[in-house]
Amino acid sequence: MWCEEAGHEVHFVCYTGFEDLMEELPQDMDILFVGAFTQAAQISYAISNMFRLRGTVTVLGGPHARCYPEDARKYFDYVLGFTDKVVVEGVLSDCSQHRPYGEYLSAREQPRHLPGVQERWKYIEATLDKTATSIKIIPMIGSLGCPYTCSFCIDSVVDYQPMDYDQMQGDLRFIHKNMKDPIVGWHDPNYGIRFNECMEVIEESYPKGEIRFIAESSLSLLSEKNVKRLRANGFLAILPGIESWYSMGNKSKTGRKPARDKMEHIAEHINMIMRYIPYLQANFVLGLDDDGEGTEPFELTKEFLDRCPGVFPAYSLLSAFGEAAPLNLDLQRDGRVLGFPFHFLNNNHAMNVKPKNYEWPEFYDHLIDLTRYSFTGKKIYRRFRANNMAIPKGMNVVRAISSEGWGRLKYHRHIRHLLETDQSMRDFFEGETEEIPSFYIDRMKRELGEFWAYLPDGAILHDPTAYLKKTDQQ
Ligand code: SF4
Repeated sequence: MWCEEAGHEVHFVCYTGFEDLMEELPQDMDILFVGAFTQAAQISYAISNMFRLRGTVTVLGGPHARCYPEDARKYFDYVLGFTDKVVVEGVLSDCSQHRPYGEYLSAREQPRHLPGVQERWKYIEATLDKTATSIKIIPMIGSLGCPYTCSFCIDSVVDYQPMDYDQMQGDLRFIHKNMKDPIVGWHDPNYGIRFNECMEVIEESYPKGEIRFIAESSLSLLSEKNVKRLRANGFLAILPGIESWYSMGNKSKTGRKPARDKMEHIAEHINMIMRYIPYLQANFVLGLDDDGEGTEPFELTKEFLDRCPGVFPAYSLLSAFGEAAPLNLDLQRDGRVLGFPFHFLNNNHAMNVKPKNYEWPEFYDHLIDLTRYSFTGKKIYRRFRANNMAIPKGMNVVRAISSEGWGRLKYHRHIRHLLETDQSMRDFFEGETEEIPSFYIDRMKRELGEFWAYLPDGAILHDPTAYLKKTDQQ
């Protein structure tokens, strides 16, 4: 939108994983902006290289640019940290090649204003049109940053700020008027920090309950009174982060309770929420140092699932994304961050932190056992029975038997097998070699397809201690 406002002709492509980017991307661009998570870094580097060879100036923004700016500067003319309209205007007016190292630009903080749904509608609509399912979810954001301090999280070091309430109300009215039976997904890092204000924005915009919502919120915000209000306002799904039974008790209002007490308390809390909200995904981070040793952390999660039959568990492997979080400095200093190719850093296909309390095979055994337990036929059936709305019921089954549940189980089993049978894998996991095992290279080649040929030399490698070196230099 900011490029359009500056008078440029814009072609927008939202890559959902299915498009043929060779076809979709225009060939004759003056400047290419890419917004990417780290998982998409290698394909972004390849695309940037392809266009730079044709003389296009390229820009990277988004989480990968914030987490790995030094690496990204090797492959883009500009790399953007916090990005507001002034930063974008600066890039547009300079618009020149910066090679071999791109220019790094950042605002002092997250933008105070972002273009809303009405302004972005032609782009949102085009993206929704190509969604394969009939469930179309409109993205909105009500706040940036988070007041909590979870040490692994990129938003823990970003000041919390709500976005403009008038703009949100205008957007909700627009959606209500223009879409049949709409669903809005709030992309706030932690929705509802200013709970009453968030609810008033919704309640004053259109007749109650005529838009449905999905949001990620801390359990500490989800008291019964608040949950009733969420239900009345059409909240269909809530994704609270439990993360660990051993730490971050402030997020769940369990303070310093022992792990078992915390699990029991949270299980009751989750069941209370599910009496009002039909779909609940509980997020966990596996491999945190605080989780201690042995089977207990995993067994507690299994017991939690027994106590909460309706919940869908989402497991993330502890990952240190470059400069994202303060914890990463300590991990890099301790030599525990491994140089897995970015392509696999999606919290599931690789854990780039050596676990403190487990050997790798033992950790993978627990991970496989927990994943298997979470998605047995019996558990899927219980989850199906525990939900009483068609969409949540169906979604839980599809997610369990697709690449997310059974697919990950198969993948983790394969990694466990390779740890036993492929010495190059084991050496890499132990940090004894930086050579990327052929398993990862072959998979990346396959998944990048035609773009593999454009991946610049060295772009599958990165320095996993770059943040530490930069900090020490400063
Ligand atoms: S509560 Fe969520 S968004 Fe906030 S710092 Fe913790 S993990 Fe990040």
